[in-house]
Amino acid sequence: MAPVKLGLVGIGKIARDQHLPSLGRSADFDLVAAASRHGGVDGVANFSAIGEMLDAMPEIEAVSLAMPPQPRHQVAAEALMRGKHVMLEKPPGATLSEVEHLTGLAIANGVSLFASWHSRHAPGVEPAKAWLRAKRIRAVAITWKEDVRHWHPGQDWIFEPGGLGVFDPGINALSIATAILSFPIWLTAASLSFPSNRQAPIAADLSFSGPASETITAVFDFRQTGPQSWDIAVETDDGTLTLSAGGAQLRIDGTAEDLPPEAEYDSLYSRFAALIAAGDREVDLAPMRHVADAFLIGDRQITEPFVFDLARGA
Ligand code: NAP
Repeated sequence: MAPVKLGLVGIGKIARDQHLPSLGRSADFDLVAAASRHGGVDGVANFSAIGEMLDAMPEIEAVSLAMPPQPRHQVAAEALMRGKHVMLEKPPGATLSEVEHLTGLAIANGVSLFASWHSRHAPGVEPAKAWLRAKRIRAVAITWKEDVRHWHPGQDWIFEPGGLGVFDPGINALSIATAILSFPIWLTAASLSFPSNRQAPIAADLSFSGPASETITAVFDFRQTGPQSWDIAVETDDGTLTLSAGGAQLRIDGTAEDLPPEAEYDSLYSRFAALIAAGDREVDLAPMRHVADAFLIGDRQITEPFVFDLARGA
């Protein structure tokens, strides 16, 4: 099959770090255009908004949206209504209902919608799921602590309403947990720490339960300097499984398993191509529902104000 002609929208950190390199390697997609107010991509047609891009290049068949979640719904809806296949960065939107609306639009227009969860494509996730399948799970401990100044430099949107704060990375852990556990979990308690000058939490402690009284805890923190932690430990009757480095490393009772190298975004684009070829959609809202639940029942602690640039105080 000829490669699918694709436009990439929102040329920022993740577009440059991951989408562009993966699209450059992909035989499934031909990147023909980009839409971004300030950014651009060498060697393709550049536009400042999706409408201009789709007006000028009706041959575009698919768009991939790499902008923050708050403005994504409007852009995705426009693309779907114009008959384009759409891939969404995580989290798939700012609210659950708007993503459900997008699913309806995709069905009505007969196109594919892929709400991607890149961490589910980490190399340890499928082997972890397979190892856990027949095991009795007692407890799961998630530790997701990273330095927001390093990974999200100057990204004020992350602390604005809809930006999710520390749940922006934390939702990656929840996307893995909901993929490897074969039973439903539900939030029982949450404590969210909000900087006094920000609209989204900088840290969160979560407790979940499962149908056989499994205990699941998650500790998210955006203030981690030094070594970073993206770990999930699962205690079973037959030993302990540990996913670390965001799912790139897997240990069973301390012994490392052989895994292929990390290629999350190559895998995401392969999946998007398969969905398009099959005329299918993939929209799993489970990780986002747990985050919404945390905002529903979490208690709210106020902490020190947060500034990205300590020297400038901004
Ligand atoms: P970013 O660099 O701040 O944003 C990407 C681009 O989106 C911006 O450069 C901006 O380009 C465009 N944009 C459109 N509307 C915007 C608005 N209202 N506010 C800010 N930017 C807007 O963010 P990012 O790190 O690439 O993250 C984008 C998405 O990818 C998020 O959903 C994030 O969770 C996800 N993601 C990020 C990472 C990471 O490591 N950073 C990893 C995986 C996934 P123009 O100004 O040129 O329009």
